[in-house]
Amino acid sequence: MSDLISVAAPDGAVRAVTGMSGREYRSADGIYQMPSSDAAALVKAGGFRPSLGGLVRSAGYPCASCGFQSLFRLCSRCGHHN
Ligand SMILES: [Zn+2]
Repeated sequence: MSDLISVAAPDGAVRAVTGMSGREYRSADGIYQMPSSDAAALVKAGGFRPSLGGLVRSAGYPCASCGFQSLFRLCSRCGHHN
């Protein structure tokens, strides 16, 4: 079993994210436990490590095509790559 890392989603209202591995994570409070590879991807997308404290970022990748505030560069609404 690999180590799981706590990562908070950029938007606390986000209840599910899909990691680079394609695995979907769900959370009731916006805090996700995920392997380091997916955790790093979420952090890159604007997530933050709660254990580091203080750093709160609100932005993911606003879609240039439809305006959706996507967690990842690939818009999860229209598929546009931002
Ligand atoms: Zn879009």
